[in-house]
Amino acid sequence: MPRLGEHAVVLGAGIAGLVHAVPLARRFQRVTLVDRDLLPDRREDRRGVPQGQHIHLLVPGGLARLEDLLPGIVDDLAAAGAHVIRSPEWRFHMGGGRLDLTGTDFRITGATRALIEGVVRDRIRALDGVEVLDGWAARELTTDAARSRITGVRLRSEVPPHEERTLDADLVVDATGRGSPSPRWLAGLGYPPPAEERLKVDVHYTTRLFRRDPAVLGGGRNVLVDVPPGERRGAAALAVEDGRWIVTLIGMLGERPPADLAGFSDYATSLWNGDLAEIVVGGEPIGDAARAAFPSFSRHRYDQVQRLPERFLVAGDAVCSFDPRFGQGMTVAIVEAVELGRALDAGGVDGVGARTLAAARWAVQDAWDLATGSDLAHPDVEGPRPAAWRLTTAYLERLLPVAHRDPVVAAAFIRVVGMLARPSELMHPRVLTRVLLGSRRRAGSGGTGVPAGTRARPRGDRPPVRPG
Ligand SMILES: Cc1cc2nc3c(=O)[nH]c(=O)nc-3n(C[C@H](O)[C@H](O)[C@H](O)COP(=O)(O)OP(=O)(O)OC[C@H]3O[C@@H](n4cnc5c(N)ncnc54)[C@H](O)[C@@H]3O)c2cc1C
Repeated sequence: MPRLGEHAVVLGAGIAGLVHAVPLARRFQRVTLVDRDLLPDRREDRRGVPQGQHIHLLVPGGLARLEDLLPGIVDDLAAAGAHVIRSPEWRFHMGGGRLDLTGTDFRITGATRALIEGVVRDRIRALDGVEVLDGWAARELTTDAARSRITGVRLRSEVPPHEERTLDADLVVDATGRGSPSPRWLAGLGYPPPAEERLKVDVHYTTRLFRRDPAVLGGGRNVLVDVPPGERRGAAALAVEDGRWIVTLIGMLGERPPADLAGFSDYATSLWNGDLAEIVVGGEPIGDAARAAFPSFSRHRYDQVQRLPERFLVAGDAVCSFDPRFGQGMTVAIVEAVELGRALDAGGVDGVGARTLAAARWAVQDAWDLATGSDLAHPDVEGPRPAAWRLTTAYLERLLPVAHRDPVVAAAFIRVVGMLARPSELMHPRVLTRVLLGSRRRAGSGGTGVPAGTRARPRGDRPPVRPG
């Protein structure tokens, strides 16, 4: 492939930074991947990615695209100990019941974030021309005299004596995550910073690891208990490497799942579905609990700014960070990386930032709509609820109960939340007919008509739990 330039620099070696290095390595002589953390050789959590201690899975659309980007990565993940979990083994409790996924065949990862990132990082390090520069923080962008083009980045070592150096580059990608300095950098260079959209949800996560008994839950390896509208509590569990479960308790709107084991167990037991209690109550904990807060969704509208400097792109959580309940952040970053490769092939480096942002907008928008749409179903979340949202929400309230007994409808839903298909797939006549007929049949057979998800088991009516 003809080279588009001598040197590309990616700031941030999280998932977004790693996957963006792939299309760049094929099109530039050299790629430098900069991270302020000293990156571990082993599969370890690290300071720069505190969210990595909580459940992290690649949804089907993310895993499939990652395999396209890095052929053989699924085998590499499995060889490193990751589970590859097929959909009949998932236990997704949403809309007041369990989705019927029998006969479907979707795949997700069952691994810690540290393992996923470590395996992907090993593949990136092995690419021709890629250098990983860890322990260096990006401090500011450098430009040409007219400030119309980014020409590189100034770095400072995180290790005493804190040397400084400048990397010249033909393209700079900012993948430094949610706290990205790009809005400040751009303002400092005289560019209008992007507008920021926010949705406050005040979500808290508490996570613990447990020894996994493969007999529990009939061998099921992935559980999701969604937060019903009007409620605050949910949870997810995933089988991960080394015979463990990672269990993340979710509290919305200021609800804080406890970290101590007794409180953690009580919380799991209080959920409207009993699967989590099966894992946690009497389970063998490993290590301490980790906590994280997700105060609000944040989307920086780089796709709408009037002007961006040339040779510059922003990616991953630095553009948009979602309530991770649907696990889409890493997948959106992978879509962005794929679009970067296409944009470079179509038009070279000129205007590539704006063109990539425009091409990947659909993925950010779909993930944003799905996650904000779901959170807005909670009456206490403050935000606009336009007519389109009300229609979609009403439709999903009919769809989910049908998906509890119709695998065709359940599969369509998973294709959309798993980013294999656009949301319009849910309105395809094949799905729409089944939803309308299925919900009519249900109403005729004594359905309550109560919106899905509001029929949670009342607190006090607890599921049976495994004796400790
Ligand atoms: C609790 C929780 C659970 C989640 N679960 C999932 C899930 O199941 N599935 C999923 O797909 N997504 C999940 N996400 C989202 C996911 O973590 C991110 O979307 C994804 O990691 C992409 O982030 P990123 O690479 O853009 O940023 P990050 O992962 O935050 O990485 C940013 C990197 O930039 C480095 N950095 C920061 N500043 C500088 C600087 N100045 N100079 C150099 N380096 C710098 C950091 O050290 C870090 O390595 C979850 C998020 C949370 C909070």
